Amino acid sequence: MMNKTVIGLEIHAQLITETKAFCSCRADVFDLEPNTAICPVCTGQPGTLPVLNKRVVEFAIMAGLAMNCTINKRSVFDRKNYFYPDLPKGYQITQYFFPIAENGFLYLENGDEKRKIGIRRIHIEEDAGKMIHQGTDSITGSSGSYVDLNRCGVPLIEIVTEPDLRSPAEARIFMELLRDTVRALGVCSGDMEKGALRCDANISMVDDSGRSSNRVEVKNINSFKFVEKALEFEQERISRILSSGGDVAKETRSWSFSSKETFSMRSKEEENDYRYFPEPDLPELIVSEDLIERIAGNLPELPWEKIERFMKQYSLPRYDATVLSSDGEIASYFEEVAQTTRRPKESSNWIMGEVMRLMNEKELTVEEVRVSPEHFKELFGLIDEGKISNKIAKEIFPFIVEGRKSPLEIVKEKGLEQIDDDKVIEDALRKAMTDNPSAVEQFRDGKEGVLGYFVGAVMKATRGKANPSKVNEIARRMLKG
Ligand code: ZN
Ligand code: MN
Repeated sequence: MMNKTVIGLEIHAQLITETKAFCSCRADVFDLEPNTAICPVCTGQPGTLPVLNKRVVEFAIMAGLAMNCTINKRSVFDRKNYFYPDLPKGYQITQYFFPIAENGFLYLENGDEKRKIGIRRIHIEEDAGKMIHQGTDSITGSSGSYVDLNRCGVPLIEIVTEPDLRSPAEARIFMELLRDTVRALGVCSGDMEKGALRCDANISMVDDSGRSSNRVEVKNINSFKFVEKALEFEQERISRILSSGGDVAKETRSWSFSSKETFSMRSKEEENDYRYFPEPDLPELIVSEDLIERIAGNLPELPWEKIERFMKQYSLPRYDATVLSSDGEIASYFEEVAQTTRRPKESSNWIMGEVMRLMNEKELTVEEVRVSPEHFKELFGLIDEGKISNKIAKEIFPFIVEGRKSPLEIVKEKGLEQIDDDKVIEDALRKAMTDNPSAVEQFRDGKEGVLGYFVGAVMKATRGKANPSKVNEIARRMLKG
């Protein structure tokens, strides 16, 4: 039996505006002390009124255009009513009936497959605050809970896809594409670990006979890896229930980071439980054709456009182009290095290899591991001229980063220049031959394998600096006698 998997995503992206959606509190609250970026508006005091942040509208339009949506010239804010301590107003301002953007799509590339994934809608809304539960990570079993309202009113866009994704891996790839897109636009940091990009996933499965399971919603997914893991877990679970003839409960489940499984949170509430109605404190949002056109004309280069350009301009394989363009800073660093060295493929290898490895291992930024393009040029030159081997080049790379010194300086300082001098190699070989005359005999009797022993001895004597191909050549000549 082959079940078909159907996945749709609801993604919340935190907008990197200066101020919140409806007041002038600062919007970047990630590292702040609790309750230090709040005001009467975002804490829902009586008598206050929201005022819409223009940047939020512009960012939402940018995202809508990048995702090929229709931008609605008229959209409307609504109240989504529910009670929770982190929502002092008792409702969230969102756009339910008339969102700012709808009917878009993004192309998803998975291996050789390229498919359109529908974007049903993008709407503007505000974030809620945060609860901190003492001792545990849930309210049950905690001795006390605190509320931090800093995040109240932080602007979000919610992006809702059509149920067009067919596997957990596709869902992860889609999230990565979305991250790259909002980053390229400069509207969101795309950082899932910090909660700047959050994903709820709806999954259902259809069996051979066309019978569809109920839809299960998975919440609390806080990394790209876990998008895939949580959905794989659900796919397994739903398959198992379907094949045993059971009914899949329509519910909301939460992904547990510690146990790597999902667990039931609640049976899924219906949309009409929220008693949506138009927000009386905000006028309808009317955007002009002019504004839309101006924003459309100023969109930055989008990830898929950059990938195509890198492949064409620098003759890179798609894989390289995709990795390099997933981060704007890495992409522009690569371009600088490639243009200075005129060696795009080597530049790509070094940046995807040594540079990104250092960044990951030591949690450094591009700026911190930045080897100047001129130093890269010098490094490639040293390798070309046979002054150092590729291996030595990789070994000294961290020192170039650390000391901001030129590769040549470091090679000299550390005495790492490759030994090309025939005489030095011959001397070392002569010594090895005197030390082990029986091995010389063996070679002359036709045991070619002992060549390796002599090459090794010379490399050891020169502390790995002798040019290996030269050592091979000379050893062969001298051993023949
Ligand atoms: Zn405020
Ligand atoms: Mn939402």
